[in-house]
Amino acid sequence: MHSISVVTRSVYHSRMYSVRPATSLVNNNQGGLAKETLYRSQIRTYNASMQSESAKKEFVGACHKVAGYGLVSCSSGNLSWQIEPDTVLLSASGSWLAELTVGQVAACEIESGQCLNGKVPTCESVYHLGILKNRPEVNVVLHFQSPYATAIACGETDGINFNMTIEVPVYIGTPAIVPYLPPGSDELARAVIDVFKDSETHLAILKNHGLISVGKDFNDAIQKAVFFEMACRIILTDPNAKPLDDDAVKRLHKVGAKA
Ligand SMILES: [Zn+2]
Repeated sequence: MHSISVVTRSVYHSRMYSVRPATSLVNNNQGGLAKETLYRSQIRTYNASMQSESAKKEFVGACHKVAGYGLVSCSSGNLSWQIEPDTVLLSASGSWLAELTVGQVAACEIESGQCLNGKVPTCESVYHLGILKNRPEVNVVLHFQSPYATAIACGETDGINFNMTIEVPVYIGTPAIVPYLPPGSDELARAVIDVFKDSETHLAILKNHGLISVGKDFNDAIQKAVFFEMACRIILTDPNAKPLDDDAVKRLHKVGAKA
């Protein structure tokens, strides 16, 4: 399994823009200056493309990690990562996260949704980009379909208390519920973007479809998905399971808010 380094957007940016100045060139005449300008822009383009290649590799590693935790099967699920204020990497349409390659990573402009590298992003790219645009602290959006959480998403969700283990109030809070709407539709995108406008929403259940978790980095989004799957497994498999009491939940919620 690939190891994923925790890179915040700002740290990543400082890496992206650390371009070595081309001071060694002679620039005492106009031709020299023009050459230097050209050389600098070549270095910048070269560094940017190298950085974008390494970001894609890191993204591919994260997709494999998602699959390694059993959060998706075959072509279900998709992942996005904001690497620059205006650029997001997304898994390609129809791709299997377990087997994703660098060639299946789409780079899209956040405002227009336009793909910058000729790939076709997941058909759910609209809500990925919408969430990332509205939530500055979120850099990763994970759409997953783990077995127990998806089973819960297919039944009555009203009145379920998910606070089985301490991780739910600490990392997730109360999941948002999105009614069934056709996958890839504008209606679904709007409904998802809407529930994630609330900065307290870290995970959403999409009825008869799957789930979405968000995080500051890959591990943050992945662990929310894994902890929620565990709570759903407890709910569905242990008839004696009792959730934490309200007092404990309130206290743990505060711990999560400070983290
Ligand atoms: Zn979906």
